[in-house]
Amino acid sequence: MVILPKPGCTDEQLQEILRLLDSLGYSAHISRGVERTVIGAVGAPDSDRSAAIERLESLPQVERVVPVLKPYKLVSRDFQPQNTVVRVGDIAIGDGSLTVMAGPCTVESRDQLLQTARAVKEAGAKILRGGAYKPSTSPYSFQGLGKEGLELLSEARAETGLPVITEVLDPRDVEVVCEHADILQIGARNMTNFSLLKEVGSTRKPVMLKRGMSATIEEWLHAAEYIATRGNTQILLCERGIRTFETATRNTFDINAIPAVQQLSHLPVVADPSHGTGRRSLVGPVARAAVAAGADAVIVEVHPEPSKALKDGAQSLTFEGFRVMMEELKCIASALGRCM
Ligand code: PEP
Ligand code: MN
Repeated sequence: MVILPKPGCTDEQLQEILRLLDSLGYSAHISRGVERTVIGAVGAPDSDRSAAIERLESLPQVERVVPVLKPYKLVSRDFQPQNTVVRVGDIAIGDGSLTVMAGPCTVESRDQLLQTARAVKEAGAKILRGGAYKPSTSPYSFQGLGKEGLELLSEARAETGLPVITEVLDPRDVEVVCEHADILQIGARNMTNFSLLKEVGSTRKPVMLKRGMSATIEEWLHAAEYIATRGNTQILLCERGIRTFETATRNTFDINAIPAVQQLSHLPVVADPSHGTGRRSLVGPVARAAVAAGADAVIVEVHPEPSKALKDGAQSLTFEGFRVMMEELKCIASALGRCM
């Protein structure tokens, strides 16, 4: 539920509300907006809610108590009206600016990664992506360089200054991935891996949660709630395309999801047109559409020689293709008054 204190509620009166919530078994999350402070409360069973609402509304400093009827609470916009801003160093995602993350699908070698990192930085990317642990549909295909890949990502960050996002596949790897990554990526195939979600929720690293390929928006937000209930609310939601009857493209990028999720949740939304389309020639157009629809960030795959990529070459941009996409995104961002 959400507690709206009266305007002019003092700090001491706020503390009194928090003490009552605590005694009723709720944990409180305070959002201080420009106009007013609201308190979100979760934890006690729904069956105790009406009694709690009555007690809270009897406090003179409480204007109103509104139950959050959505099944997910912490990540819902009812609970926290203002946008969450995810911060990575001096980069802010969710504050109205546009952030681009780019890099290879998979870290293949020092040369491949460093060349790509330099090229994407030069073209304006703010965050470097690269998979060290790869979720492969077939157990016989390349599984990534593992720890060696993480070390190469750290080296690329040291050289370029770009923060790093990389996927963690297994709860047992969260610790080592945290040593090297600035943002933890949860892949589409792991969206409902609840033990992994809880593990990354226990860290204080930002997490990018990809939408499962057959997940509804509500299921996706439930998965985000798992992370948030462990105390980590620095969450990015990434739309990466869903499975439909259409076979002309690898996935169907759900453009609707961008504004739909932003209405339901305060979390920033990232668009992945690489996995969303599976085809290099479609990445730029869909990236532009995603920015126009309000995506807070875009993540794309870039490779020095896509035809030789060990994974996802068909959807990887060349350096020149990435440069062109960035120029186009700048035009759209500036038309919307957003800085890049
Ligand atoms: C990836 O980012 O390379 C990846 C495997 O993505 P997804 O989990 O969306 O398939
Ligand atoms: Mn990929």
